[in-house]
Amino acid sequence: MFYRLSAPNPDTHFIDVECRIDALSQPTVELQLPAWRPGRYELQNFAKNIQKFHVFDENERALPFKKMTKDRWLIQSDGAEAITVRYNYYANAQNAGSSFVSHDLLYVNPVNLCLYTENRLHEPCTLVLDIPENYIIACGLSKDGKKLRAKDYYELIDSPMLASASLQCQSYEAGSTKFHVWIQGNIKPDWTQILNDFQRFSEVQIATMGSFPEPEYHFLNLILPQPHYHGVEHRHSTMIVLGPDDEGEGLYTDLLGVSSHELYHAWNVIRIRPKELLPYDLTRENYFPTCFVVEGVTTYYGDLFLRRAGVFDDTAYFRELQTYLKRHFENSRHAAQSLVESSWDLWLDGYEKGIPQRKVSVYQKGALAALILDLTIRKIHRHKKSLDDVMRLLWERFGIPFVGYSIEDYQATVEEVAGEPLTWYWQDCIFSNVPFDTHLNHALGWVGLQMVTFSDGTVQLQELDDPRAVLQRKQWLEMDI
Ligand SMILES: [Zn+2]
Repeated sequence: MFYRLSAPNPDTHFIDVECRIDALSQPTVELQLPAWRPGRYELQNFAKNIQKFHVFDENERALPFKKMTKDRWLIQSDGAEAITVRYNYYANAQNAGSSFVSHDLLYVNPVNLCLYTENRLHEPCTLVLDIPENYIIACGLSKDGKKLRAKDYYELIDSPMLASASLQCQSYEAGSTKFHVWIQGNIKPDWTQILNDFQRFSEVQIATMGSFPEPEYHFLNLILPQPHYHGVEHRHSTMIVLGPDDEGEGLYTDLLGVSSHELYHAWNVIRIRPKELLPYDLTRENYFPTCFVVEGVTTYYGDLFLRRAGVFDDTAYFRELQTYLKRHFENSRHAAQSLVESSWDLWLDGYEKGIPQRKVSVYQKGALAALILDLTIRKIHRHKKSLDDVMRLLWERFGIPFVGYSIEDYQATVEEVAGEPLTWYWQDCIFSNVPFDTHLNHALGWVGLQMVTFSDGTVQLQELDDPRAVLQRKQWLEMDI
């Protein structure tokens, strides 16, 4: 598949797309645009951003077509050996999963606007950017000037890109991987601090998991003047949109938090993937019960790795823990759903406020469930084993061979590491909606912490005056690599 993107009138925010498919052998071709994008489990119907759509044969003769569904086209190729589809896409949204074009920036998530045809998904893709001479391209794909190459359609749509004349970049190495930090925005980064902190949390993550899936990895950052906080995980990159650009220290804390979280996704979900998502069906909902593993465990580890790397101190780490406690217990303590039910229903209302006390957050409640599990395993084995072992086993068994795991696989791996059945954990923390304050405080108490609930329903994380817990806490939060 070949794609060419151009924006002759960038301030209209339209990107012109030319998509060429050759070696046709059938009298018709069905073309599909993704209805959602991996990382956000809701239908987004990108086809609504297409304004004009035309198809031509190799002699520039217009070919007839009709729409089969909201985002699928049936082309009568009429004996043509190659067809060219020309359409335009309205790119005027700046979040970590969108596309945007203006007079000084081209930002593209190919999943928004690249058509595919089912029997050609595994063929190499080439994408050419028609951009000004002085533009630099930041993208995880291999590059030859303005030509980007992906080994198949799945790699193409997993590779967001930024192109502008003002991109800044610095690189570092951790393990055997080369990391690149790209920044687009009106800020003067403190590169010494960024490279130092990023290298530390990258090394701790790689040491914990044993190996990193990719030889190169790109942090693509778009910094906006207005408040924003969003990151999306990809195979060899992450796309992050943050703001406001004049926030200084708060912006940097956000950058660290979201970057560590997204990097851990390079294992957890990109490679250690729920089997229901393998392969992705981009035309419709892909239900799965384990988003509490995908997002909950990643949220827990994103901040924990910053503490273990010494980028956060105890105070900074406990501030993040308190944030999950407050968001879960103050907003959805009495929610009707379990983590598994809310995972399934992401496709229904997972990314909106929703009606009162219906769902729980797979992020915050999921992170607290991961914390309870980690401390439980650590207590059983006196820190000789932990949730680290569970995730490393999942990486070795399901991630490296890339075969997908089921919820039963997750439960079995957890119990294998724990060395005992954890029936209470699955029942109370994962499969039902019973408030889990008692389990949480039991786990936290061992490391000298507790959650206090006040009469108005607000909660607070407090440190206990227990010298015996200090050693446990140190073993949980610190790591020598
Ligand atoms: Zn995430």
